[in-house]
Amino acid sequence: MKESNVQPKRIFDKFLSLAERNTEVYFKGSDRTAINCLACDSSGDFAFEKYGFKYELCPNCQILFVNPRPIASAFSKYYTESPSPKYWGTIFYKETAEARRFRSKPMASRHSFL
Ligand SMILES: [Zn+2]
Repeated sequence: MKESNVQPKRIFDKFLSLAERNTEVYFKGSDRTAINCLACDSSGDFAFEKYGFKYELCPNCQILFVNPRPIASAFSKYYTESPSPKYWGTIFYKETAEARRFRSKPMASRHSFL
């Protein structure tokens, strides 16, 4: 099975486009808190920046995390009010239901030679 069967490019691209625009609206200028690695409490090393978020890599456990992290209320507003999570939960979820059903079958049932 191809990845495009599970995540049809057309609707996945639409989701990415919505998410990019929504992060700009809901997180740009939001209060942020500097954090350490959530697993080992080490300070991270800058890895890259994407959509206004700076990502750091923990030198000890290789966990990638956003730092500084937006405050919880910004995430709450994003997930309850912005169009991209609604699109994911409705249109994307429904249009990929059949493909996900196939993927969720146990490996043994997909291979008759076992
Ligand atoms: Zn760590």
